[in-house]
Amino acid sequence: MSFIKHRSKPDELKVLESLNERMNLSVKEKNDLSNLAKGFEGEQKFDEWLITLSNDWNILNDLRFDWNNTYYQIDSLSLLSETIHLFEVKNYEGDYYIENDTWYSVKGLEINNPFLQLMRAESLLRRFIKNLGFKYSIESYLIFINPEFHLYHAPRNQQIIFPTQLPRFMNNLSKKTSKIAKNHTQLIEQLLSSHLTKSPYKRIPKYTFDSLKKGVVCMKCRSFINSFRKISLVCSQCGYKESVTSAVLRSIDEYMILFPEKKITRSTIQEWCKIIPKKTLQKILSNNYEQIIDGKNTHYIVCNKSFN
Ligand SMILES: [Zn+2]
Repeated sequence: MSFIKHRSKPDELKVLESLNERMNLSVKEKNDLSNLAKGFEGEQKFDEWLITLSNDWNILNDLRFDWNNTYYQIDSLSLLSETIHLFEVKNYEGDYYIENDTWYSVKGLEINNPFLQLMRAESLLRRFIKNLGFKYSIESYLIFINPEFHLYHAPRNQQIIFPTQLPRFMNNLSKKTSKIAKNHTQLIEQLLSSHLTKSPYKRIPKYTFDSLKKGVVCMKCRSFINSFRKISLVCSQCGYKESVTSAVLRSIDEYMILFPEKKITRSTIQEWCKIIPKKTLQKILSNNYEQIIDGKNTHYIVCNKSFN
């Protein structure tokens, strides 16, 4: 198999993780954060299964489309011969049950029916590719990846794969090879060009630069680093050591994700990183970013210049 499009941590998750350290999130927002993190973790686990498939498979992960003003996303889309395999991955943990087609967690909280979600994506994708003139059949599967998941009154549905069935299911998939050599290039190009690079953030609370707690966060334990040493930063909570340059670049990445519209200036980044001395910061900025001088003001943009 080859991953044509890789999975990366969703921006919405990155933003929530960062906000969780820098402001007080409500219980609901913390819950959203934990669900997003769990979902991403489950998708990554499923990728480990996909790796075992044969070379005939082309895999596109994490696709988002807007078709006729209807937004939908696909966790994994795999192409083999003339068939598209759609995978919706759920990392649910604990007991769930179904009553009158409605899904509930064991606490009695209704959840979105994940099977309907998959069917909706399948139907929208089917219309989309048909509209482009492609002929592919679609097989869709709802994958429950977490071994701690149990569904009472589970429907006998071959499109729903439970954790205990997953090894067998994947084994069957890996036996499938392409009978007809099919060039997927055109379809892949169309899918990638329609993919939305930005996803609508649904769960992000309001925040401003001024309202957030500033400082460099430890890469390992996510607590704030409170002292500066010349070459490396050492976390007083967990002892993790990171070079100053790497910590600053990481913090600037975080700033850019939180404030995509804002410019990178020395004074803003100085305030953002807090503990880094002016001279050190200046050096890191000029070594790693392109300097744009606009009258009296200077800001920095991302460039491909390698740093030493
Ligand atoms: Zn730490």
